[in-house]
Amino acid sequence: MKEDLNKRLCDAVDAHFDRQVEFLSALTAHPSTRGAEQSAQAFMVEELAARGYEIDRWQIDLAEISHLPGFSPCQGPYEDAVNVVGTHRSRTGQGRSLILNGHIDVVPAGPLDMWDSPPFEPRVEGGWLYGRGGGDMKAGLASNLFALDALAACGLAPAADVHVQSVVEEECTGNGALACLARGYTADAALIPEPFSEHLVTAQLGVIWFQVHLKGMPTHVAYAGTGSNAIEAAFPLIAALHDMEHRWNAAENRPDDYAHFDHALNLNIGKIVGGDWTSSVPAWCVFDVRMGIFPGQSIDAAKAEIEQVILDTARQNAFLRNSLPEIVYHGFHAEGYALSQDSSANAASAIAALDRAHQGATGTALEREAITATTDARFFGLYADMPALVYGPRAEAIHGFNERVDLESMRRVTKATALFIAAWCGTEEA
Ligand SMILES: [Zn+2]
Repeated sequence: MKEDLNKRLCDAVDAHFDRQVEFLSALTAHPSTRGAEQSAQAFMVEELAARGYEIDRWQIDLAEISHLPGFSPCQGPYEDAVNVVGTHRSRTGQGRSLILNGHIDVVPAGPLDMWDSPPFEPRVEGGWLYGRGGGDMKAGLASNLFALDALAACGLAPAADVHVQSVVEEECTGNGALACLARGYTADAALIPEPFSEHLVTAQLGVIWFQVHLKGMPTHVAYAGTGSNAIEAAFPLIAALHDMEHRWNAAENRPDDYAHFDHALNLNIGKIVGGDWTSSVPAWCVFDVRMGIFPGQSIDAAKAEIEQVILDTARQNAFLRNSLPEIVYHGFHAEGYALSQDSSANAASAIAALDRAHQGATGTALEREAITATTDARFFGLYADMPALVYGPRAEAIHGFNERVDLESMRRVTKATALFIAAWCGTEEA
């Protein structure tokens, strides 16, 4: 009986897979970088509404989230930050509820000449769909929606409420997922199909973003002595931050999930700007830093050490000594999260259900992986006591050029998700 249902669900995913690829292609064509997600969100609303889900679409209100744990400081207004949730209301409510989450925002494409074809004109070639955001994570959004479609095609619906979330801000703060929590969306488990090669993510790092602002007196280059250049003053600060990075990665500081990683925590200087004129000594420089932290590592302690490192180094620098750097936090204030540390019966049950679903859909055992990035899973796991399963298709070059997602992998994940929904929520007649 159950075997039979699993086969029917997998067959239904196959029967609609061409449409799913079309959906993914249409969604990827929306250039939904931060601040420009509206057309993609409108597309999601259309698709969710056409399937009969109850629609909730709202603009993130900072006043509702800025006091909550997990909030990340952000720059600029949130007028363009719109979340979308489509809800299936169960008639019987006999099963366990579920959140199917995905983020709609994508990172910038970078120089277009580095792409073989335009990033927002998706194309399919050799079993891959190419385009910015196709893998990270619009294929996951497609998988969530089409897994539910597979149940519907079998005349079934989940026997518990299911919230399909399409959130903004995952790539810079996570405040989109946080706003969903603040609005009251919780469930017995969450599934987030981020593109990690059909592995179950057992742990993820935290991330801190900050800017370092340097400024001083401008002079003509003819009169510049050593140590008067704001751009060059950044170099020793960057070197000191990398020394800190090596200390944090030392074997004795690694939690179990990361014991086998030599260098899980990466410090990235992501941007640098400074100066005004080639023959003027630059009076200012700003650089942006991303730093990872381990699950369990305190954000406040990490920030205190970052500030200490920067100020101690600055005091040894002729340019900076008299005008100490200013550290500005904007973007990620993300704690690490380890599903592996969730010892609740609910988490064990959700993981077991995904194990069986993956096995049923693919015929292979579900592999585990600790990742060196962050995802929105932390909000569900840390602040709402919900096991958050990150499990999605294989993608390559996410955040890089020629980003692509493996379509057969998306098919397998969609099947596994359909089986997981049926097992976790139970089913009722549609
Ligand atoms: Zn992502």
